[in-house]
Amino acid sequence: MNNYFENTKVAFSLKSDTELERAYFLFKLIANQPLVRIGTAVTNFAIKAHLPVEGLIRATVFDHFCGGISEVDCIPVIDKMFTKGVSSVLDYSVEGKEDEAHFDEALEKILKIIVFAKEKKSIPFAVFKPTGFGRFELYEKLGKNIDLNSEEQSEWSRVEQRFDTVCKCAFENDISLLIDGEESWMQDAADNLVLKMMQRYNLQKVIVFNTIQMYRWDRMDYLKRLHDQAKAEGFFIGMKIVRGAYMEKEIERAKERNYPSPICESKEATDKNFDEAVAYMMQHLDSMAIFAGTHNELSNYKLLELQNNAHLTKTDHRIWYGQLYGMSDNISFNLAEEGFNVAKYLPFGPVRDVMPYLIRRAEENTSVAGQTNRELNLLKVERSRRKNK
Ligand SMILES: Cc1cc2nc3c(=O)[nH]c(=O)nc-3n(C[C@H](O)[C@H](O)[C@H](O)COP(=O)(O)OP(=O)(O)OC[C@H]3O[C@@H](n4cnc5c(N)ncnc54)[C@H](O)[C@@H]3O)c2cc1C
Repeated sequence: MNNYFENTKVAFSLKSDTELERAYFLFKLIANQPLVRIGTAVTNFAIKAHLPVEGLIRATVFDHFCGGISEVDCIPVIDKMFTKGVSSVLDYSVEGKEDEAHFDEALEKILKIIVFAKEKKSIPFAVFKPTGFGRFELYEKLGKNIDLNSEEQSEWSRVEQRFDTVCKCAFENDISLLIDGEESWMQDAADNLVLKMMQRYNLQKVIVFNTIQMYRWDRMDYLKRLHDQAKAEGFFIGMKIVRGAYMEKEIERAKERNYPSPICESKEATDKNFDEAVAYMMQHLDSMAIFAGTHNELSNYKLLELQNNAHLTKTDHRIWYGQLYGMSDNISFNLAEEGFNVAKYLPFGPVRDVMPYLIRRAEENTSVAGQTNRELNLLKVERSRRKNK
């Protein structure tokens, strides 16, 4: 891999000295596991008790990991990143709201983003979460083949309608649409719904992307089965490939309820599964498009090697590299500098509503110790590079 992702001047070219110091301070805090645990508990309490902590959250984690409260707030960040060739995926990150008014509000938000994206080359994708459009329990029931009562049936048809409205809007505006992957026990119903959307809107090219989480050992089979179906019926497959964000929860639930864990037996097995899916998709680009959502340097490097070895152009529209805003700028900005297609998820939403997302980021960076250390080291290198200039 040589030093492909180590150019910190390129990685942090958009960060002022103050922003660089803030990032360094933040990752130092996040690296401290007990502090994150206490900090998370205190913040959750403070938010529930309506204590005035939003200013503090904004000045620290929020501004580092989010683009703002509204999509308009995000414009300066989007424009700035695009000067370096890095695109944005505006991610309305409000989670855990389980009523019809919020589902409709999320739908309106995504529709607005698609129309907004049409005007901006810097926003090639829109994104949403299945549970942003319908109740988790409903997905879960359908996944288990439990009959819905008549009220639930009409509730589910509204979920389907929301999926269709947003996919149709993406199709008409020619904006690609990523659909996030969530917990395994709701994912079957979401997969079925996304399949319907691919059958409807991916007939000429990929508009709709599902997500496969390669920490699940059954996903390679799923991908191959989907491919067979796509060939037989003549639709294209869009797939975001990730490792998966809910590992602890998945393992704990399987243990509690005494069923086999859906998660690969080790990190190495997940890595192998991830590589296999990437290689499979790269071999079938005639009918697929891939969005690799990963902060793993080696995974990004392996994909770019496959791309180079196949003599594909760096801007091939079927291949995208994706990272989250506030993380792994060394990967995003160095890939973009080389001319590859790169997009960063740029979350936004009211401070208290994006807290579940922010807590996941803090916990993820704490648990993946190597990743935090890598961020810290890169920030350290860049600080001293600037000092010795
Ligand atoms: C642009 C983007 C979009 C994303 N969208 C989604 C999404 O829709 N749904 C979703 O679930 N996640 C999503 N993620 C998060 C992603 O799934 C990972 O949690 C995160 O990126 C860390 O994995 P990695 O490949 O970056 O890095 P690595 O550090 O290489 O991998 C860490 C991951 O490996 C797996 N792992 C770790 N230890 C073990 C073990 N002992 N056994 C088996 N597996 C293990 C876990 O999945 C863990 O998260 C997204 C990430 C990005 C960058």
